[in-house]
Amino acid sequence: MKIKRIAIVGGGNAGWLSANHLGLELSRDPEIEITLIESKDIPVIGVGEGTVPFIRNSLQSFGISEVDLLLHCDATFKTAIKFANWMSTEKYGKDNFYYHTFDAPFPSGYDVTYYWLGKKTEAYYSKLSAAYYVAERNRSPKRTDSPPYKGLVNYAYHFDAAKFATLLADNAKKKFGIKHIYETVNHVMLHDDGSVKGFQYDSGGHEEFDFYIDCSGFSSLLFGKTLKVPFIDKSDIILTDTALALQTPTDSYEELFPYTKAVAHGAGWVWDIPLTTRRGTGLVYSSQHMSDDDALKEFSKYHGRDLENSNARKIPMKAGFREKIWEKNCVTLGLAHGFVEPLEATSLFITDFCAGMIAKKMPLHKEEIPVYAKSCNEIATLIWERIFDFIQLHYCISDRRDTQFWRDVTEQVQLSDLLKERLELWKYSIPQRTDFASTFDFFHTESYLSVLYGMDYPTRAPAVNDLVGNFAKQKILEHLEHSRKQADSLMSQRKWLTELKEYVAKNRPA
Ligand SMILES: Cc1cc2nc3c(=O)[nH]c(=O)nc-3n(C[C@H](O)[C@H](O)[C@H](O)COP(=O)(O)OP(=O)(O)OC[C@H]3O[C@@H](n4cnc5c(N)ncnc54)[C@H](O)[C@@H]3O)c2cc1C
Repeated sequence: MKIKRIAIVGGGNAGWLSANHLGLELSRDPEIEITLIESKDIPVIGVGEGTVPFIRNSLQSFGISEVDLLLHCDATFKTAIKFANWMSTEKYGKDNFYYHTFDAPFPSGYDVTYYWLGKKTEAYYSKLSAAYYVAERNRSPKRTDSPPYKGLVNYAYHFDAAKFATLLADNAKKKFGIKHIYETVNHVMLHDDGSVKGFQYDSGGHEEFDFYIDCSGFSSLLFGKTLKVPFIDKSDIILTDTALALQTPTDSYEELFPYTKAVAHGAGWVWDIPLTTRRGTGLVYSSQHMSDDDALKEFSKYHGRDLENSNARKIPMKAGFREKIWEKNCVTLGLAHGFVEPLEATSLFITDFCAGMIAKKMPLHKEEIPVYAKSCNEIATLIWERIFDFIQLHYCISDRRDTQFWRDVTEQVQLSDLLKERLELWKYSIPQRTDFASTFDFFHTESYLSVLYGMDYPTRAPAVNDLVGNFAKQKILEHLEHSRKQADSLMSQRKWLTELKEYVAKNRPA
C-alpha cells in the first residue's frame, strides 16, 4: 500500500525542519500530501539559538536565501564556542579560556599538534585555528562580496528560534506545498497491529494518515505516550538537568562577538549568545548540586544585577533519547526524540541530520518500512551515544575540583567504554581520523583536538627532530601572521550586518 498521507505533529523548529526536508525529497510526487499539525494551546520550547555549520547545507538545499535568514531571524555568525573557566583558576588563572572553533586547528592544512605538544610555542592551542583571530576581534567571517553561505572561516549562526520557525514554515508552505493546520491532538487511534491509525482533535474532528513524524517536543506524544518506546536515560552521566533562560534587548551599536560564550560556574555553565537585537543567556545547572535560589543568585552575579523580578524562565531538561527513532509507521525527531544539555548546540544538528536521513529513506509503500527502520534505528543510536561522549568530555577532563559538582563530574561519573578507551589511547598518541571509525561520530578529530588541548590534556609529547620541528614552526608562524592579517582585513560583525540591512533596505524592490 502506497504511503500517500504523511502527518508531522509539532510546529517547533523540529517540525518545520522536517517539513522542509520531507518537502524537498517528496513534493515531486503528486500523490504525496504532507500535513503539519500544530497546537495553539501547547507552546513551542522557544529556546535554541545556537547552531553548527551543518545547518548551512540544509538551508541552502531548501532554497532559503542567507540574506533572508540573517535579516528575518536577527541572526549573527557563530565561528566558535568560547569556553571560559572550565579549568582550575589556580593553575590556569582567573577567566582562563579556550575555543572550540568550527575551523580545523591545522595551519594551512597541516596537523602540527605533535610540535605544539612538545614545544607549546603558542600557549593557546586555539590559536592554531584561523577562526581564533576572527573571534577575538569580533569580526564577520565573511567579506561584503563573499558568496552566500561561504566565509573566510567556517561558521554557523545564532538566531531567534521563533523567527527561524516562521522562516522555515513560510518556505515549506510556499516551495513544497506543505499543508499547515492548527489542531490539538487529544487522542491517538491505533490499528490492530499497534501502528498509528489517526488522530482525534480537541475541536471534535478526526483524521487518518499513512505515516507519522512525532515532533511534539518533550511531551513525546507518539513515541512516549502512545507507542511507549523506552527512553534511554543518561541523567547519570550528564548531571546538568535544569536551565534558567533570559533574553534581554541590546542596543544597535553594541559589538557582536561571533561565538557562543560558555562560562563555567560551580554547578554547570552559562550560555551567552548575541543576536542583532537581543542577548540570549541561560544558566545551566545540576539541581542535585545547586538549589533554584542559588541558581538565580549565580545568574544575577553573571548579569551584574538582581534577577529576582526578571522574567528568567526555568526549563527542566532530561538527558537521554528514545531507544528507536523509527517504530512501525512513525518516526520521532527533535526534543521528542531526545536531548542533551545545549553545550555544543547538538539538538538542531541531530534533528536536521536525522530529518534529512528520514526524508531520503522514506518508504514508498508500507510493506517496505521494516527494511528502512532497522538501519535508521542503528544510526540514530550511534549518533546519540557519541554525542553524549563528546558532551561528557568537556566535563570529565577538567582539572576543576573546587565544588562537589566538579568533583562528581570528574571523579564519580561513569564514562562509556569507548570514551574511556579513547582517553587512554590519547594519553600516548594524538587523536587522528582513524580513531573515529564511524561516519556518525559527528564530532571527531578536529573537535576532539580543540577540546582536549584547549583543556591541556596530557598526551605524551612525541619526539620531533629539528627538520620536522622547523617545518612545523614555520607553518605555525606563517599561519599566525596570515590569520592576524586576515582577521584585521575583515569588518566587525556589527558593521557587516548593519551594512547588509541598509543595502537590502535600499535595493530590494518594495
Ligand atoms: C535550555 C535549552 C537550550 C537549548 N539550546 C539549544 C541550542 O543552543 N542549539 C540547539 O540546536 N538546540 C537547543 N535546544 C534545543 C532546541 O530548543 C530544540 O531542538 C528545538 O527548539 C526543537 O524543538 P521541538 O520542535 O522538538 O519542540 P517544541 O519547540 O517544544 O515544539 C513542540 C511542538 O509540538 C506541538 N504539540 C505538542 N503536543 C501536541 C499535541 N498534542 N497536538 C498538537 N501539537 C502538539 C506544540 O504545539 C509545538 O508546536 C535547547 C533546548 C533547551 C531546553
